[in-house]
Amino acid sequence: MSISHASDIFPEDTILRPLSASRMRIETLAVRAGHAVDPSTGAVTPPIHLSTTFEREPDGSYRQGHIYARTSNPGRQSLEAALAALEGGVAAIAFASGMAATHAVFQALTPGDHVLLPEDAYYSTLRLAREVFGPWGLECDACDMSDLAAVKRLLRPTTKVVWVETPSNPLLRVVDIAELAALAHAVGARCVVDNTWSTPLLQRPFSHGADLVMHSTTKYLGGHSDLIGGALVARVEDDFVARLRVLQGLGGAIPSPFDCWLLMRGIRSLPWRMRGHCENAFAVARFLAAHPAIEAVHYPGLPSHPGHDIAARQMNDFGGMLSIQLRGGEQAALDLTSRLELFTRATSLGGPESLIEHRASVEGPTTISPRNLLRVSVGLENADDLIEDLDRSLR
Ligand SMILES: *Cc1c(COP(=O)(O)O)cnc(C)c1O
Repeated sequence: MSISHASDIFPEDTILRPLSASRMRIETLAVRAGHAVDPSTGAVTPPIHLSTTFEREPDGSYRQGHIYARTSNPGRQSLEAALAALEGGVAAIAFASGMAATHAVFQALTPGDHVLLPEDAYYSTLRLAREVFGPWGLECDACDMSDLAAVKRLLRPTTKVVWVETPSNPLLRVVDIAELAALAHAVGARCVVDNTWSTPLLQRPFSHGADLVMHSTTKYLGGHSDLIGGALVARVEDDFVARLRVLQGLGGAIPSPFDCWLLMRGIRSLPWRMRGHCENAFAVARFLAAHPAIEAVHYPGLPSHPGHDIAARQMNDFGGMLSIQLRGGEQAALDLTSRLELFTRATSLGGPESLIEHRASVEGPTTISPRNLLRVSVGLENADDLIEDLDRSLR
């Protein structure tokens, strides 16, 4: 798959149906959806409404339906419209963090319900399921979801959510969303996809049968490492979505007006930033794959990656995340992180700056990350500078 031409990266099927009947492509939606000139001032860039409360008309109604900002406010409403349009869903709910969004999904279930998660799901997702919702009464199992027989064995009549995350952390495992959604539906469960790493640009879970999409908007959607946020996007409006809204309205895990504004701003450049992340990650992955100090490069764009075929079919491009294993073991991995100049030693991903992280020491004793593994979020610097930095630092 060539990544040098926009038409290859973003084929026709990324044309979306926005909320209106007209067809707009995703770059246009990113810039336009949820944006309108402010009718009271003519401001082209949206204002930030800090008001917590809204005036009631003499007849008891509210001018734009907003009553109190825990339940809704204008900036969050615009953001939710943009998120729904980008993902091709009917509705979105913006949360204070990705974990708050995930929390709401688990909390919308009933004690005794069963949830199936990938064993390599985002680490805090697994911890939330086990440490918080286990004692609350949720039954949880985790398995390697590329093993569909294992998934089938673990599904039960009480399974209500099959949680999917692809590509996964830290080995960039790729799983088939359509297969997992079909298995989930066969037992009456919902398929929820954490689409944080791929973004709506690279992967369209609803077109593969998913019911709900979760995002940590902290990452690529925000895109500048300066806000924490999350979202759920729904394919159809149903009782479960209504329940999620109740949980958010009563629990109050809402993003601030300023974070909503920053996120709207970040989304506008998302399509063009993703092109850069993908192009740079591919170049870095190719360089590393040929380097003698590297034992393995995990990047779904490389034909040698076990998930490459599914990724090539399921994704529009292969993303900005990769991980590497060093021949010299854990110490060589740690040494590399201190020699590099352009890769900051920090967790998280999706910002303009490249980040590198030793996952095993972040995740602690229960980690399944190999000790010699480093995870890289490839940023928007010039790829040649990144490669020169790696070349200089690898021994
Ligand atoms: C960061 C992340 C989350 C959690 O989101 P927060 O915004 O940090 O709460 C969940 N899933 C994935 C894949 C992530 O990268």
